[in-house]
Amino acid sequence: MIRPGSTLGILGGGQLGRMMAMAAAELGLRTHVYAPERDSPAFDVAAEHTVAAYEDEAALVRFAKAVDVVTYEFENVPAATAATLAAHALLAPNARALAVSQDRLTEKTFMAELGIATAPFAAVASEADLIAALERIGRPAVLKTRRFGYDGKGQVMVRPDTDPAEAFAAIGQAPAILEGFVPFEREVSVIAARTAAGGFAAYDLCANEHRHHILATTRIPAGVSRRTEEAAFDIAKAIADALDYVGILAVELFLVTTEDGERLVVNEIAPRVHNSGHWTLGGAVTSQFEQHVRAICGWPLGATTRLGRVEMQNLIGDDVEAWERILAESGAHLHLYGKAQARPGRKMGHVTRVYPERD
Ligand code: AMP
Repeated sequence: MIRPGSTLGILGGGQLGRMMAMAAAELGLRTHVYAPERDSPAFDVAAEHTVAAYEDEAALVRFAKAVDVVTYEFENVPAATAATLAAHALLAPNARALAVSQDRLTEKTFMAELGIATAPFAAVASEADLIAALERIGRPAVLKTRRFGYDGKGQVMVRPDTDPAEAFAAIGQAPAILEGFVPFEREVSVIAARTAAGGFAAYDLCANEHRHHILATTRIPAGVSRRTEEAAFDIAKAIADALDYVGILAVELFLVTTEDGERLVVNEIAPRVHNSGHWTLGGAVTSQFEQHVRAICGWPLGATTRLGRVEMQNLIGDDVEAWERILAESGAHLHLYGKAQARPGRKMGHVTRVYPERD
């Protein structure tokens, strides 16, 4: 059992690590952030920091021994890094959660074993595999690298007229997965927490809109039936239980509407706090960052109760120049990540607007 006054180690120094560190501080914890970049935004709000590579074993051991529990803000933590950390400290979420979420093929196979719906998929290691997979799955389809894809990178649409060789070349002929195209009506996500003792709490389902493959806006409620929302929670719980998961888990889903009603298809999971959960900071009784800290410390989970109808808007690149106007807006919660340069596509901050609901 971890007590206030203990030290939380965070791997990764971006905005997610920064907001986790701030939540930890509110609960009387110290934080130590480990990241390779000298100008990591999370360093500004942590008691200690280490600048070192994720492959630097000696630095990892020193870090793990200096903290009481280690968590991370990104899913591409190398397996060897996770093993080194887990040998010297509590690591939450565990290494299995990382392994499953790092590889799209492992992830989809895991879902299939749990009986959870995904897009139809096939492993692709060669052009011949791709041609065979297209025969089986049909077009349009999406070809994605198994690893290291994010914000639409490492993936290409295979349309009726796309040449398979060109599609495979477009993703660098990397080990890949072909997925059938899901004709979704909306993209939604579940943000949920699980404790080591099996406690589980989910926030209301979020509806997500992307621009240029980057999350732009999250709205809650998501506008789906109660039954669909419950089904999404059941999916998140089944995944979390199967992984013996501890911490915040994000599950991204496609909502498909047919004449038989609404159907959910899992796209991917993230073993960490998630951009589509930022609305909980100011929009729910307990933020996802606090909830994550509670879960990994073995503390009781907080209430996930929503405080009204909520909209979260990401401030990407130049959007952040509106900071003064947003500050002047009554009821808008502005969060800036302390990044020096507003490069295009870079997440600089977000704004949450909560509209109290009468009922
Ligand atoms: P991902 O990196 O897997 O989250 O994919 C990025 C975006 O591409 C998703 O948010 C969807 O908008 C779209 N996408 C990915 N996979 C599929 C699919 N199988 N069918 C339809 N759209 C997809």
